[in-house]
Amino acid sequence: MSTANSMVKTISVIGAGTMGSGIAEVAALAGFEVIMYDVNDEALHKGMERIRGDLKRSIEKQKMTDDDASAALARVHPRASLDDLAPSDFVIEAVLEDIELKKKIFQHLSNITSSNAILSSNTSSLSITSIASFTKKPENVVGMHFFNPPPLMRLVEVVRGRQTSDETVAATVELARSMKKEPVVCKDTPGFIVNRVARPFYGEALRLLGEGVASVEEIDRIVKLSGDFKMGPFELMDLIGIDVNYAVTKSVYEQFFHEPRFRPHSIQRQMVEAGTLGRKTTFNVERSETSCRRILRSAQNFEMMQKKILIVGESPLVQEYESLCEGKGLAVAATVNQKKTKTLSKSATLALELTNINLEEKKRNLSRLEKVLSPKIPILSSSTTVTVAEQATWVKHPERLIGMGALPTLLAGGMMEFAASRRTSVETKHSVEVFAKSLGKEFAFVHDSPGLVMPRILCSLVNEACFAMMEGVAEGKDIDTAMRLGTNYPNGPVEWAERIGYVHVLAVMNALHDYFGEDRYRPAPMLQTKALRGS
Ligand code: NAD
Repeated sequence: MSTANSMVKTISVIGAGTMGSGIAEVAALAGFEVIMYDVNDEALHKGMERIRGDLKRSIEKQKMTDDDASAALARVHPRASLDDLAPSDFVIEAVLEDIELKKKIFQHLSNITSSNAILSSNTSSLSITSIASFTKKPENVVGMHFFNPPPLMRLVEVVRGRQTSDETVAATVELARSMKKEPVVCKDTPGFIVNRVARPFYGEALRLLGEGVASVEEIDRIVKLSGDFKMGPFELMDLIGIDVNYAVTKSVYEQFFHEPRFRPHSIQRQMVEAGTLGRKTTFNVERSETSCRRILRSAQNFEMMQKKILIVGESPLVQEYESLCEGKGLAVAATVNQKKTKTLSKSATLALELTNINLEEKKRNLSRLEKVLSPKIPILSSSTTVTVAEQATWVKHPERLIGMGALPTLLAGGMMEFAASRRTSVETKHSVEVFAKSLGKEFAFVHDSPGLVMPRILCSLVNEACFAMMEGVAEGKDIDTAMRLGTNYPNGPVEWAERIGYVHVLAVMNALHDYFGEDRYRPAPMLQTKALRGS
C-alpha cells in the first residue's frame, strides 16, 4: 500500500505505551512503515501485543480483513535502540510526561536524524517551544497531540511552537490527514485547545457541588438532559480518572501563573488523596432532599389543572416559551415583548418573567405582574442572571416567586432547572412541577445561585473559548471542531454562543462575577466585544 503523504515515508514512534502503540497502529494502517522504539523491552513487547490485539478485534468486528491487518502489523518494526530511528522522516514522541526525559530524547534525535526530519511530541501539557529549544532546528519541531485511544479518536491538535515553521505545520497537518485524522492547528499555550477550553466543564461542576447548588447526580443529569451532552462532568471525570483530570487542571493552572479560572478544587484533591480515582469507585454523594423522584410523584395530578400562561420578558426567550406552551396545548393568556405589547391578562394562572439582560426592566415587569395578578398566582422568573433571593426583595409576595434557568435555545433540551428562595411556598413549587410536566420536561430543583447549573457551565465554556480565541490559540471554528471531536461535546462553544447569543452569555458571566466577586468569572474582552456587536 502506498502512503497518501508525499513527503513522509518512514515514521518513528518513541514509547510503546498506551499512546505510542496506538499511534503506531494508526500510522501502519495508513500505509506507513513505522519504527516503534521503547527503552523498556517488555513495554515494547506489550505495545506490539496491544496492536495485535486491537487489529484482531477489528477483524472480529469485520472492520478490516485478515490480510489488511497482517499487512499493517508487518509495517510496524519494533526497535530497541534510539539510534535505529536515524532514517526517519517524521518522529512522534510519546514517552512519559517528563520534560527532562523529553529533553534527552530530543537532543539525541536532533543529532541522529536528517536536518529535514520533523520531530513531534504527543505531549499533553508540556511546552512545544521548550521541547524545541533542546534541538538544533526548532523550526522542525511541532506538537502532534493525539487523543486516547488514538485508533478511535479523530482529533489531532497540531501545536505550533514559537519557532515552528509554516512548512513543518503544513507537513504535520498533511500527515495527520493521511492518517485519516482531523487536524486542528493551535498555538503553543498551556492545555492547547481541548485541555484548556474544557476546564470549566469540570471546574464549574466541582464549584457547584462544593457550594451545595446540586448533587453529583443532579449536575450530571441536568447537563445531559439540558445540553444534550453524552456524559455529565462527573461521569467524564470518572472515565478520564480523577487523578489524571486533577493533574491536567493543576498543570494548566501552574502554567498560567495561577490564573483563577483554572484553579483546581479541593474536592478533587481530596478524592485523589483518598484514592477514589475513577470508574472503579463512585462519587458517593447522597441525592439532595429535593430529589426529583419525590417531586414527580406529587406532579401526577397536573392533568386536572387548567393553566393559562402569561409570558413577559426578552425575546427570543418569550417566543420560545410561547411556542412551546402553545404546542403543548397550554393557553397563553398574553405575551409582552418588544414587538407586540398587549394588556396583561388578569385570567392567567401562571406568569413567566423571562428577562436576563435588563434587570431594571425585570424589576418593572415583576411589579406590573404583581399589580395585575392575584397574590396566589405563581411567578416563575428567570434567575439566570440574578438570584431568586434578590428578586424576592423586589416583590410584595415572595412566596409566589420561584426561579428558573432560562437561556435562548436551552428549552429545546429535555430539562428545566428551578430554584426556590427560602420564602417560596410549597404551592408555588408544586405549580412549577406541574408546569414542567405539562411541557413534557424533566425538572430539577437546585439551590438558588446565579446561572444555576447548565447556564453557568455553558457560559463558562463559551467565556474560556473567547479567551482562547482572543489569545490567538485557534480560530473559533477550529475550537468547535476540537471540542466536538476531542471531548464528544454535542456542539462547540462558539456554535453554542451563536445560538444562545453572546449578550446572554455576557449577562451570565457578569452576574457570576458580581455575585462571587472573583476574577475567575470576569468576562473575556472578546465576549464583551461580541456582545456589544450583537453577534
Ligand atoms: P505510558 O506510560 O502508557 O507509555 C509511556 C512509554 O514510554 C512506556 O512504555 C515507557 O516504557 C516509555 N519510555 C519511558 N522512557 C523512555 C525512553 N527514554 N525512551 C523510550 N521510551 C520510553 O504513557 P502514555 O499514556 O502513552 O503517554 C505518553 C505521552 O502521551 C505523554 O507525553 C502523555 O502526556 C501523552 N498523552 C497521553 C494521553 C493519554 O490519555 N494517556 C493522551 C494524549 C497524550
